[in-house]
Formats: sequence, C-alpha cells, structure tokens
Amino acid sequence: MPPGADAPPVEAAGRYFNGASARPHQVCLRLDGRFRVTGPGVARDWNPLDLRAADSMPPLMRVGPAHEPERVEFSDDALAAALAARCPDLHRRDEAGGVLRLVLWSVAAGLSVLLVAILGVPHLARLLVPLVPETVEARLGATVEPQVLRLLGSPPACTEASGRAALARLVARLAAAGQADGASPSDLAVSVRRQGTANAFALPGARVILLSGLIERAKAPDEVAAVLAHELGHVSARDPTRSLIRASGTSFLLSLILGDLTGSTMIVAIGQALLSAGYSREAERAADAHAVGLMARAGGNGAALADVLERISSDDDRRGTLDLLRTHPLTAERAAAIRALAGPEAPGRQILSAEDWAALKGICGPSP
Ligand SMILES: [Zn+2]
Repeated sequence: MPPGADAPPVEAAGRYFNGASARPHQVCLRLDGRFRVTGPGVARDWNPLDLRAADSMPPLMRVGPAHEPERVEFSDDALAAALAARCPDLHRRDEAGGVLRLVLWSVAAGLSVLLVAILGVPHLARLLVPLVPETVEARLGATVEPQVLRLLGSPPACTEASGRAALARLVARLAAAGQADGASPSDLAVSVRRQGTANAFALPGARVILLSGLIERAKAPDEVAAVLAHELGHVSARDPTRSLIRASGTSFLLSLILGDLTGSTMIVAIGQALLSAGYSREAERAADAHAVGLMARAGGNGAALADVLERISSDDDRRGTLDLLRTHPLTAERAAAIRALAGPEAPGRQILSAEDWAALKGICGPSP
C-alpha cells in the first residue's frame, strides 16, 4: 500500500500542462491513494511515488511524474502539505540535476585528489578544520551521533530525572569554568547511555556521550567530571572534526564543496573513526591539561582523571575492545603528568555534593 493510501483524500483546483504546448487546462486535482488529474479532455492517474516537484515560487506548486514532460500547477496549502507527506521522492532530483551533480562531483573529486596529493591528508585536515563553520559542525554532529550509537549497539538513553538534573549541574559548572578562558562552547549536549563499557566520546558540534560503565566504575564524582572535562578538551580543540576529516579524506572535502554533509559515503567511516581511531598523543596531552585546568576552576579534583584511568586499566573484566583506554592509552608518564598539573591540594576537592553524586549514579535507573 502506498504511503497515505488510507489518509483522507485532498482536492484542489489546478492547471494542467501537457508538456508539448504552453496552454493550460483547468483541472481538478485529487490525492487519495493516487494523484488524479481530471478536466475537459484530461484524465490522468499518477502514482504518488512517481511525483516530483519542479522549482516554483510558493504558494505555487508545480508537480509531475518523473521522466515525463507533463505538469500540474496549483496554489493550495492543504494539497501541498498532503503531497509532501505522501510522496517521499517529491524533492528528489533524478533528471537533468543528476547529470549536473555528476559533473560537479567529478570536478570536486579531481580538485580534492589534487589537494590531498599536494598537501597530504593530515595537513589538509589541519588547514580545513578552522574553516568549518560551527553551524556545519553542529549539523555534522547531529548526523554522526545516530551512526555512532548504532556502532555502539544502540544503548538506551539514561533519563532518570534527578540524575539528569545532577548531570546538568555538573555540565553547567564545567561550562562556566570553561567560559572564563573562552574555551567552552555555549551549547554542550552531554548524554548518558546505558552500556557496561567504561567510555566517553566527543563528537563534532560539542556533543559528548558518556557510557554508564564509566559512572559505575567511578568512585568519586570528580572521576566522571574529569573524563567529561577531558572530552570537552577535545571539543574545544575540535579534535573530533579533525579526526573525521582524516578518516574520510577526500569524501569530506567533496561533501563540503557540494554542501552535502549527510552523504552516506562518509558517515560510516566517520562513526568508526570517532569510536576507535583515537587522537594523537599531543591531542591527548592537551585534552588532559584542559581537563585539569577546567576541574580546578570548577572547584574539583583534576587528579581524579588519573585515578579513574588507572582503575579501568587494572580491571580484570575489562571489556577491552572499546573502553576508554583503547582510545586513551594510559602510561605511567601520563598519569604522573596529570597529577603534577593538578597539584597536591587537588585530591581534597569534590565537584558535586553527595546527593548529586548519588543521583548521577542512578541516572540509568535500576539495573535491568
Ligand atoms: Zn582523549
């Protein structure tokens, strides 16, 4: 059954053009399971799935079957809305536009291959990242997040109310601490997902996903906060976007040139890159330093980052494939550097009240 076949029929007056002459024919349009065009000397019965919209100035709408010259025009909001709802391919460009697109792709592909050959992908990534507008990054994050979640096995979101309120207070404290040095993006989106692995991910567009395994393994709120602050370090340095450009190389460039960041070619590569490729050692060191600084300004214990990483690395039941240490390898040197940066008085501080910490621990509700 075509989509909307059981929805009520919608009718409107319109004009039919046969594609051979410019003469309009007054017709009656009716969308039920089919799209029917009837009038003096005209009787058409089109499958809504075949309909495509041509360019027109609203409220005028012009539609016709794909690959046919026939068109009808009308100015009726109800019919336009019904068509939009029931014709999934209404705005698909599969005629002349397809050829133009192919030409554009070829030109862009040639250019980007040339650039990659001259500059190399890592250098290109460094050059490109500052040029990616924040709005594009936000869209990219929104596109990539579902893919990353699928790769993680679609863990459910943790939505227990008092836990979310505690998390919101923690994020606000870290964001405020970041704003003091202008390093924190204004609209952070931090979510917790129920999954036993101890891990956290930063995505483009200031999105951070915490897996509940991290909260379970943490012995103090500062441990969760410090991992979050470390991910925020990656966010401020735009590491996720850089890593994504590296992973997708020329296809990212192509998408950028063509304005099609949702191109499925790159999305899979990106999701995988964000989950498993990790960042450079320098990027990790910078994110650690960012985390310790943020924690100190927020009144927390930055050294807790070393504590939690050490605990995860000593776990007997490490679910080794995807935990935090795979993308954030811990060395004794790294742990010592974190503690030295945090200073001797840091372990005396706690970023959340005992009540908020208990609430955050319960954000995923009782174990299933
Ligand atoms: Zn990191």
